[in-house]
Amino acid sequence: MEIIIFTGPPYSGKGTQCSLLEESLGFSHISTGDRIREEKERRSPLGKIMATYEEKGALVPDQIMKDMIQKIIEENLDEKGIILDGYPRTISQVDTLFSLIDGKNVKVKSVINIEVPREELLARSITRAKNSDRKDDQDTTTHEKRIEIFEKETRPAIVYMKSKFEVSDINGLGSIEEITKRISALIKI
Ligand code: ADP
Repeated sequence: MEIIIFTGPPYSGKGTQCSLLEESLGFSHISTGDRIREEKERRSPLGKIMATYEEKGALVPDQIMKDMIQKIIEENLDEKGIILDGYPRTISQVDTLFSLIDGKNVKVKSVINIEVPREELLARSITRAKNSDRKDDQDTTTHEKRIEIFEKETRPAIVYMKSKFEVSDINGLGSIEEITKRISALIKI
């Protein structure tokens, strides 16, 4: 199995780009945010715990996410590949992911980091709030908090990944098609 890791701030368009790539690559798009929302909808005890973090714009604790990513890896070992959207988001999650694939027939094909300036992220968050029924999309305090947590927790995780592997920075400004072209050129589709 091959893995393409997608990272970048909230509202950077990761989900949109991953869905488009899923079709052209034949890899499954797996979003940890979507998995959390599915678990919430099932109203399982775990879903209820996750909701308390997700709805505030906070990160779900690493230990809970570890069980989720372990399941994702195991379920897809025999697949051609997956596009991982939303994991890893902390330095500890980077180590977890790499220890889980160590010794298995799994290769990280690319790491794509979509860059979008803060002002544009905030503008997009307001548009998304109007079209979304996600609880974490509803108020500007949560938007700002999610961007803040990205800077505090995920930015260092990206720097850490850059010290270990090749991470490709992609300019996330422009039309959806333009950004897809930039990514496709990088992963040589
Ligand atoms: P976006 O696409 O806007 O960045 P996601 O749908 O990926 O948002 O994630 C929504 C929320 O789910 C996050 O704010 C966080 O609470 C939780 N979440 C998703 N992935 C992770 C992760 N790897 N670690 C911790 N929390 C996560």
